Parts: sequence; C-alpha cells; structure tokens
Amino acid sequence: MEADRQRRHRVIQAVRRFVQLSTVALVVCLIFLGLYYHYRAARSIGEITDVAGWRGQALTIIDERVGKLDDPEAFLLANNGNLWSMRLGGVDVADPLAFVEATSATHDLHWPLLISILIPVALTVLLGRVFCSWICPGYLVFEATGKLRGVLRRIGLDPPALEVSHANKYVLLIVGVVLAVATSLPIFSMFYPPALLSRTAHAIIFGTGVTGMLTILAVMVVVEVFVSPRWWCRTMCPGGALYGILGSARVLRVRVSHQGCTNCGLCHPACEEGLNVLKESSSIECDNCGACIKSCPEAALHFTLSVPGMQKS
Ligand code: SF4
Ligand code: SF4
Repeated sequence: MEADRQRRHRVIQAVRRFVQLSTVALVVCLIFLGLYYHYRAARSIGEITDVAGWRGQALTIIDERVGKLDDPEAFLLANNGNLWSMRLGGVDVADPLAFVEATSATHDLHWPLLISILIPVALTVLLGRVFCSWICPGYLVFEATGKLRGVLRRIGLDPPALEVSHANKYVLLIVGVVLAVATSLPIFSMFYPPALLSRTAHAIIFGTGVTGMLTILAVMVVVEVFVSPRWWCRTMCPGGALYGILGSARVLRVRVSHQGCTNCGLCHPACEEGLNVLKESSSIECDNCGACIKSCPEAALHFTLSVPGMQKS
C-alpha cells in the first residue's frame, strides 16, 4: 500500500518535471521557428543565402521539415511567440500578467489579449498556482538553486536562509501596475522570470545582446543560493502573486488527515514555498507542487477536489 502510494507520487513528480522540461523545449522551438520565419523572408528577397554555425544547422533542419509543408507561412504564423505570449496551433495563449501589464501600460483593453488569457485563468481558478510548479522555467531554475544549497550544506557551508515576507510580491504587483500606468513602460517583463528567460533565449537564438538579462538572472540566482532559499517565488514574483490571487478559490488542494498525522514535521522542509504545510496548505501561497505529499511517511497528506471550507479531515 505504502509502496504503491510512494510510486504514485514519484510518477506525479516525474510527470511534473517532464511538463517543465517540455515547456522549455516548446519555447525554444517556437523561438527557432521565429528565427526561421525571418530567415525565409530575407532569403526570399535574396538578402540571405546561407547562415553559418549552429544557427545555420538549426535553420537547415527546420527548412527540411517546415519548408516542405504545403503552406510553411501559415504554419509559422500559427506557431510563434514565447512563454509570455504565444500562438500555438493558431490559438493565442498569454500569461495573465502580460494582460495586466499591457492594459496598465497602454491604458486600453485589448480584447484579443483578454481572450488569450482565458485558458490560463480558467486553469488557475480550478487548479491554483500550478503554472508556477508545473510550467514556469523560473521555478525549474530555482529548484536547481535549492539543490545547490543542499550541496553547499553537505560540504559544510551553510548558506543563510533569510526569511522574507511572502506579502512583498503582492506589494510588487501593485507597485508594478501603478508604475506601468504612470510611465507606460512594460515593467514586469523586465524581471518576471518566464518573460525574462524567454527574452534571454530569444536573444541567444537571434544573436542579440543578453548582458542585462543575464545580470538580472545572476542576481536572482546569487540571492537564492547565498541569501534566501526560493526567495523569488516565495516573496518577490508578481506573477506568482497574481496566480495565487486567481487560484484562491481553487478546487485542487492539499489536505491534511489529522488522524494520520504524527506531527513529525517532515513535510515542512519539503515545501518549495516555505509553508507550514499543516496550517497553510490551503493558503493562496500553495502552488500544488505535491512535494509535501511525497514527503509524508504517514500518507497523511493528499490532493482533494473540493471548494474552500467544504472539507475538514
Ligand atoms: S513565482 Fe514567478 S518565477 Fe516563481 S514559479 Fe511562479 S511565476 Fe515562476
Ligand atoms: S504545501 Fe505542499 S503542495 Fe503546496 S507548495 Fe508546499 S509542498 Fe507544494
């Protein structure tokens, strides 16, 4: 029974990792398709005949596949963008924070953009902040920095674990909106990890400048490793704040069976969001990653589908 349960949760975590890595692969593919789109346009007017190096090899591979489609142009127009805002199979999907930012900065409601956030918003309302734990490449990077902290601890260096208020990210969300309204500048996309990482990948693939973006990422990683674990997602990310608010009435939640719980406390260090799982797994901070469930030796934690306040175990 216990072995089955452990196996099930190992599979869930493996699927979560697969989704995270597939998302990264998808975004990289879309950016390469963007590069190929420009290459085709330049080639058609005779501006480019050949591209050297790894970009050239990638363009050759894409050309062999996409270039042979009946209508490559239509395929490329139906599949482009990045994690901030993409078109996949002709369907537009955007990050809700992109909508908030664009609406604030332009002082205008863009209906196509509003429609493009419906799928992410619906998923978040039902499943909570799963964008963070299952999709965001920033989460993947910061999980890796958490592992690095573990290595440092094992070799006797114990990096500080400064506690920072979770509330900061809600303040940052409001400040970002106010600044975008006042300055008409896209504030969030400068440092929000899904946008920042997408832009960095775009710059590397297109061969444009990345210094500023890599500097911001390096600062985040240094703070994560040497100052405060999971500092960004727990306490700073305006996107995480927005997803938390949207998912506050989610139906997928982690529940505690108090009959089974022995108060061993093993779930607490497993929580990427730094929550006291026994008290806070229903809070808007929980991203439904499921790590606490896997860590519980008594099988006292489980996912449930219920509306808030309906179930107490
Ligand atoms: S909090 Fe922000 S950076 Fe962290 S996983 Fe969520 S969206 Fe990504
Ligand atoms: S309470 Fe559990 S499911 Fe929620 S964020 Fe923490 S470890 Fe993940």
